[in-house]
Amino acid sequence: MTSITSPLHYLKLLYFKLAGDTHCAACNFTGKQKAKKVLWDNLINEWELSTQWVDWFNLREGKYCVNCRCCARTHQLSTGILQEINLMVAEEFTNLDSAFKNYKVQALHIAEINSLGNIHPFLAQSPNLRYSEFLSADLAIRSENLESLSYNDDFFDLVLTSETLEHVPDIDKAFSEIHRVLKPGGKHIFTTPVVWDRPNTRIRAFMEDGKVIHVFPPSYHGSKTKNQSDYLVFYEFGQDLVARCEKAQFQVELLSDKENASLVTFITTKL
Ligand SMILES: [Zn+2]
Repeated sequence: MTSITSPLHYLKLLYFKLAGDTHCAACNFTGKQKAKKVLWDNLINEWELSTQWVDWFNLREGKYCVNCRCCARTHQLSTGILQEINLMVAEEFTNLDSAFKNYKVQALHIAEINSLGNIHPFLAQSPNLRYSEFLSADLAIRSENLESLSYNDDFFDLVLTSETLEHVPDIDKAFSEIHRVLKPGGKHIFTTPVVWDRPNTRIRAFMEDGKVIHVFPPSYHGSKTKNQSDYLVFYEFGQDLVARCEKAQFQVELLSDKENASLVTFITTKL
């Protein structure tokens, strides 16, 4: 699944291919990656991030593969997904593109609860992928609410979520629902922003009688302006997110990056 659309694009890919040797676990491109800053001032101030954490989060979201545009975070998420599906189907796939063309991988029960961004097209090669979004406006895309999933008990081998748990009002209910729909031994693989040098999660907002109560000034993800289409942040997670997963009866493994503390993928197994 390459995206060569013009001679100029081909030349650009060739340049980046010759200029580096970083392998992309999503599309299989090997070459130099690009980086751009993605955090905005309001978010940095609302979250009270240090300069070091701003740099780490910028690299997490802004360093990307020039071929498929997956960022460092979704690259690490791809590595986690590959690790688990290779164990499940006894193969050694090195990238999602080839893995999701395989009939054994396509036979797995996998729920992509919300789009995994630029790696979604690779997963969507499987005709059996259960892909959904929260309050989807597109009739072709299923709607799922993490606090009340419509799926049967003990059904999925894998549940995937990407940068969504911080926007769910009741995170414990979400973990309970994910646990319910997974088979015993099934995995929930996810990323969510965690400020790892903070022991405790900061609750920015919560729901009471159907209304949002703000503990801190509202903080949104999704665009650089505050408007109703953005996603309100309920949780700024800290280290205690691991204990919260364990309390929900998951065994927790963390994929981490020794050069970037913000880059962590959770691989949690239903006990
Ligand atoms: Zn790529």
